[in-house]
Amino acid sequence: MNQDDALDREKLMEIDMALLDLLDERAAITGHSGDRIDGAGHYSRLLANYEGMYDAAFVQDLLENLTDASSRQASAEDPPPLLVSRAHQSADTIVRIGDAEIGGDAPAHIFGPCAVESYRQVAEVASALKQKGLKMIRGGAFKPRTSPYDFQGLGQEGLEILKEIKETHGLAVVSEIVAPEHVTMAEDHLDAFQIGARNMQNFELLKAVGRSQKPVILKRGMSATIEEFLYAAEYILAEGNGNVVFCERGIRTFEKSTRNTLDISAVPLLKQASHLPVLVDVTHSTGRKEIMSDCAKAALAAGADGIMAEVHPNPAIALSDRAQQMSLEEFDNFHFSLI
Ligand code: PEP
Ligand code: MN
Repeated sequence: MNQDDALDREKLMEIDMALLDLLDERAAITGHSGDRIDGAGHYSRLLANYEGMYDAAFVQDLLENLTDASSRQASAEDPPPLLVSRAHQSADTIVRIGDAEIGGDAPAHIFGPCAVESYRQVAEVASALKQKGLKMIRGGAFKPRTSPYDFQGLGQEGLEILKEIKETHGLAVVSEIVAPEHVTMAEDHLDAFQIGARNMQNFELLKAVGRSQKPVILKRGMSATIEEFLYAAEYILAEGNGNVVFCERGIRTFEKSTRNTLDISAVPLLKQASHLPVLVDVTHSTGRKEIMSDCAKAALAAGADGIMAEVHPNPAIALSDRAQQMSLEEFDNFHFSLI
């Protein structure tokens, strides 16, 4: 009879299985993390009561190794899917801004001036939008400009004007905020916060709008990858605000004939990766009025949930983005081409 035959295999199997069950039970308490055990206190108490055949150093080493192996297993597990992902939620999210729905059956558009300049200026655009049955208007009260000497927006006064427009014209108002403290300041004035391209990775701002329940239009950073764009939205959802809309607004490339390069492929990529709605801003992506209608149609054909574009009653005297804002007449033709 050799030594192997002498082993009670069944008994050994039973003991090993019991050890594995105990390991599972242990991991259920420590959550796979040895860090949660106060090493010194834990082992000295354990060893004081241990009367088995192994010496203290061996026992401690053995248990520490088991804990390490357990946390290696935990880090090998797949992380949960992102909240923005289709894997987390397969059905499309519909974001409600005032009476408008973005991500539903019909496209929902956001038009309006680049910047809020006066009540009269915004009211002229608002009346034109209202006549067309549109439900939202945009306009910047805080303008993050490339040069510090350019018009920076009316700030608080701009917010007051937007609030008045909302009351007088019954349109939902959308405007960019650029600092976490603007969330409280603008909460009462706006129906949705816009996060501009330059702030897509301003993580403190993303967390701040995430703590509000107001819808957020998140614009793509000018050099941001789709993955970075998705993670930026994740910051907002992770704080508890699921009302996020992506807005593709063009990226920087070598091409000089347009202000930026409209990345149409971003639309189906975002729609496939995420359940959140997607808008396309044809103003900042192209910077060219003569191709805005074609680009808007392309965006909708690619699956966009709506279009953003800038309209000004008198673009020639606009305080920002003079060359690319549509006049009311140009806007008539643009809008007609989309319906
Ligand atoms: C805007 O929409 O007013 C704006 C400044 O656009 P972006 O952040 O995309 O440059
Ligand atoms: Mn603009």
